[in-house]
Amino acid sequence: MCTDENSGRVEIQSWPFLLPHDLVAAMVKHGQLKYLTQFEKMHHYWENLLRDYPNHPVHGHEATSVPLTLYGDEGQALGGTWMNYHFRPDLSPCISNSACSRFLICTIPSSMYVFDENGVNLTLQSAAGAIRDSFNKLSRDGVPLVDPETGESVSVLKFWVMHYTGDWKFLYQTFNLVRYATFEEICWICLCTKGSTDVLWSFTNLNDDSPWMNTFFTQDPWSVRPALADVDGFTMRMLSIDLLHAFHLGVGRDLCGSAIRIFASQRWGIWSGSNIEARLEFATSRLKAFASRNRLSLTLKKLSQSNLTWETLKYPELKCKGYDTYIVLKWLVEEVTLQDCGNDLLACALWAADSWLRVLSKSGLFLTPNEELHKLQVGNLFLKSYLNLAVGALENRKMLYRLRPKFHLLFHLVNENRPSRLNCTLNSTWMDEDAMKKWMRIARMVHKRTAAENTLRRFILGFHTKLRLANAPQR
Ligand SMILES: [Zn+2]
Repeated sequence: MCTDENSGRVEIQSWPFLLPHDLVAAMVKHGQLKYLTQFEKMHHYWENLLRDYPNHPVHGHEATSVPLTLYGDEGQALGGTWMNYHFRPDLSPCISNSACSRFLICTIPSSMYVFDENGVNLTLQSAAGAIRDSFNKLSRDGVPLVDPETGESVSVLKFWVMHYTGDWKFLYQTFNLVRYATFEEICWICLCTKGSTDVLWSFTNLNDDSPWMNTFFTQDPWSVRPALADVDGFTMRMLSIDLLHAFHLGVGRDLCGSAIRIFASQRWGIWSGSNIEARLEFATSRLKAFASRNRLSLTLKKLSQSNLTWETLKYPELKCKGYDTYIVLKWLVEEVTLQDCGNDLLACALWAADSWLRVLSKSGLFLTPNEELHKLQVGNLFLKSYLNLAVGALENRKMLYRLRPKFHLLFHLVNENRPSRLNCTLNSTWMDEDAMKKWMRIARMVHKRTAAENTLRRFILGFHTKLRLANAPQR
């Protein structure tokens, strides 16, 4: 659905898609099933994950059910913004190779978006409707497995979307959310607010008796039911919070930015130098030495007042890539461990954030009871110390430790109480972002008018070769 450039009228237009049921059927037919799942891992996966979904149709059919994730995000190309949808098999043998595990469905320019009076994005809803129907074909009809010798069908594999992930804006646009970061009610899971009318309902109220804590999944977050809610087996719990956007590109950058600003402002603090510039230069050399010593690939060239948004009326934020946040945080923990920074609460927040991430990143797909306990206790220690730092800064009229709505997403990641103990790093979108950059790189190489079709064409043309080169383990 789009607006005609000449007449200005809304019209239905056909649009190129590479629908999941077509791609999956072609892959199975051409002997590429091994890139869609690792059969030896399916039992463990379903045995654990289905604890979160006691009524899911996969129950009883675990051996022939393949899990998928749908991802969406907007990227920039050809002077505009494009929404890309792709899907990935959760048990792909090459999950960390984005070229072989992320399958493009469509790319749609935001210039085509049409909204109705409720703010529903009709263009994305019609696209999501086509994607829903395709996924439902995969879960209802499935794909037959044929014995190559006899040509007879020996089994039927079915495919199920178990997670929907992307940045917050993708969830907002695709699921018609009426509770979102830019509104007073911000969260699709609970009924917390920004606290403008009643501070008790504010997302910064982390007391145990906070009223919003009793409202998880009690009210639909949309007024118009989104197309994807009718994908077979869908429940609200499948909308995933992306750790990369919530922490590494969110609260983590606020934490590191504030910490560096505080340390670099101290004349007799942990970093030498007669002025702020000199101390930041000194800190940069220590950061680079730390990264090199630990073989961590740092993109950030230097710590400077500009990439720390060091302006009087702005909260500090370290402008850097997600992976740089991970490195800078680790380095800051070492800095405050080697020397007394004179701020125990900040040292505690840094340590807790790093420890929380470290345990999650080293754990398997499902956490052990001890790892789950660590996630809960150390995660909450971080949330509460960061919140106390923010409250202290506010009382002293200092712009430090920004509390943005992403802080609340982190709350849910820490406190989500899944019977499966699913590790939230599964739905971190590092590799999906990588794939999206590839889609946008392709789009830039073709003409704007044909970009949607040619991006799909080029993806599929190079696909077979990439799979062959992937050197995936054989089943
Ligand atoms: Zn919430």
